[in-house]
Amino acid sequence: MDAAPSSRGPAMPDTVVIADDDRATRALVARWVQTTGLSVIEAGDGEAALLCVNAHLSRVAVVILDVMMPNRDGFGVLGALRAEPSTQALPVILLTAHATDEPDVLRGIETGAADHMPKPFSGPLLVARVRQLAAQRATAVRNEWLLRRAETAATRDALTGLGNRRQFEGVLVAEHAYATRHRSPAALALVDLDHFKTVNDVFGHQAGDLVLSHFAEVVRKTLRAEDHAFRVGGEEFALLLRGTGVDGAEQVLARLRSQLAQAPLVLGADRTRYRIQFSAGVSSLDGERPAHVVVKEADDALYSAKRTGRNKTAVARA
Ligand code: GH3
Ligand code: MG
Ligand code: MG
Repeated sequence: MDAAPSSRGPAMPDTVVIADDDRATRALVARWVQTTGLSVIEAGDGEAALLCVNAHLSRVAVVILDVMMPNRDGFGVLGALRAEPSTQALPVILLTAHATDEPDVLRGIETGAADHMPKPFSGPLLVARVRQLAAQRATAVRNEWLLRRAETAATRDALTGLGNRRQFEGVLVAEHAYATRHRSPAALALVDLDHFKTVNDVFGHQAGDLVLSHFAEVVRKTLRAEDHAFRVGGEEFALLLRGTGVDGAEQVLARLRSQLAQAPLVLGADRTRYRIQFSAGVSSLDGERPAHVVVKEADDALYSAKRTGRNKTAVARA
């Protein structure tokens, strides 16, 4: 499961990579750039420039490249940055003695340079351009973070960190297609905690929330990496188990029961030991029936587990 983006926001890019094989020019560019308040990392040739960018990727705001450098010229570095998704959007300024040569400028634009500046350069112009590009980069990084956070909020349950119903529906279709294509077994288990309302009634809603997150944590520890778990309702969960039929799913659920029994929660002022119990309905996701039918079968099996005493797993036999 991917790490959720931090709620404090992304680290802002604050570093300019300056690549020039001429030490004096590099130092002069660095001095001007430092007046912006941004940090500077210097590289003496093209390969070193790529290494620096990749080593400090999340911090890089702007890259300034001399065109004529050993071990890969400025165009070569620019091309390499554009070829990698992680560095594709970094703003690059080319700094060259040939800045007025039309073919050179054209090549720079075509390769994706944000600007092409002549050497000797104007310090104030360079500073203004670096400031502008660094601000654009910061906005892009922030927007990317906001988008990721919105995606996470749309697909993940905030209390347990598990996928939500919307994500379950997407993954169900994908797993169903996978099982059909590869003729490999997969199972769906629908799980509903037993007498959960009593927890809220006796110990309060917060204790109920604690039970839900504890249950999710035990599920996460019990499942294999290729399995998926979702919170699809208040105290209802769905498990998609890859490479296993209904028998394997029954074993996974038995393991889950024993894990829960071994880790009872302590609830309320009188420190009651509370053992989470659940009912489950299992059905086979083997591609022979449409996914919505498999869900209905698992749901019917869950209902039968509830009706016949709870704290058990019922299997839909196709
Ligand atoms: P059964 O054994 O038949 O499943 O009974 P139950 O009490 O588990 O099921 P019921 O559907 O009667 O009650 C579910 C309760 O779950 C009611 C609702 O208030 C509670 N609930 C739903 N979402 C949350 C939540 O996010 N936090 C807490 N604390 N309670 C929740
Ligand atoms: Mg319940
Ligand atoms: Mg319920």
